[in-house]
Amino acid sequence: MQRRCVVRQINDHIYLLDDDKQATGYLVIGKNKAAVIDTMNGVEDLYAIVRELTDKELIVINTHGHPDHIMGNIFFDKAYLHPADFELAKQFCSDPSFIERCKNWNLKMPAFEPMSAGDIFDLGGLTLEVYECPGHTSGSVLLLLKEDRILFTGDAINHHIWLQLEDCSPLPEIVNTLQSLLFLEEKADYVLHGHTWDKEDIGIMRAMMNGIQEVIDGKTTDDVKYEWFGSDDAVMHVYQIDDGRTYLQEHHAVIYKRSQDKRV
Ligand SMILES: [Zn+2]
Ligand SMILES: [Zn+2]
Repeated sequence: MQRRCVVRQINDHIYLLDDDKQATGYLVIGKNKAAVIDTMNGVEDLYAIVRELTDKELIVINTHGHPDHIMGNIFFDKAYLHPADFELAKQFCSDPSFIERCKNWNLKMPAFEPMSAGDIFDLGGLTLEVYECPGHTSGSVLLLLKEDRILFTGDAINHHIWLQLEDCSPLPEIVNTLQSLLFLEEKADYVLHGHTWDKEDIGIMRAMMNGIQEVIDGKTTDDVKYEWFGSDDAVMHVYQIDDGRTYLQEHHAVIYKRSQDKRV
């Protein structure tokens, strides 16, 4: 049977897991343990796919509680999630079609283990540090792979950032949060986010923050209606990358709600 999930090697111990171009997870293999960062939609047996790549003890870490990142948790015994997203995740897990799918697999969602800022996952020779980055969801986290200077960001820092959803934080709050995390530019060279095919320069964090600030400042004359998901009044604001570095995406965009209160 043709698999949905395409595995792509990033370096000798990181694999990108692409779930039918709908979501991206990662496998990071240390000397003692391996981390699965996001498990995607849970439509095929991710445990079996991961086991073809490593026999190390596994730790599952969710960058946030959205279904395209956590549904594959059902193939594992335990998964970490920031408690601020527990309720959100619970809502998605009570979706009848998901319950039906679990029944067919004879599997269930494991209980979430809490994690928070400052937590460290020691994989043996590789360390993942947890940073909180509320915005896209309240419990979104960034994971810094210190030795490789790579930041796993899920949807919290993403070339196409969704801030139009019901649970997203107000835009000024998100800018403040990103501002407080800019020191990570000194610790990471690249971002691997939750809907991608390759690394992006760490400069995306600052560029995205500036893009959100442009929306707050009302520089929105070129913004267009965003039809795809989330809200009737969702709008897309394309921002420019102007630091001279090369990016993979043709354009970067902030999706937000036209009606959202953008005052500080
Ligand atoms: Zn998300
Ligand atoms: Zn996502």
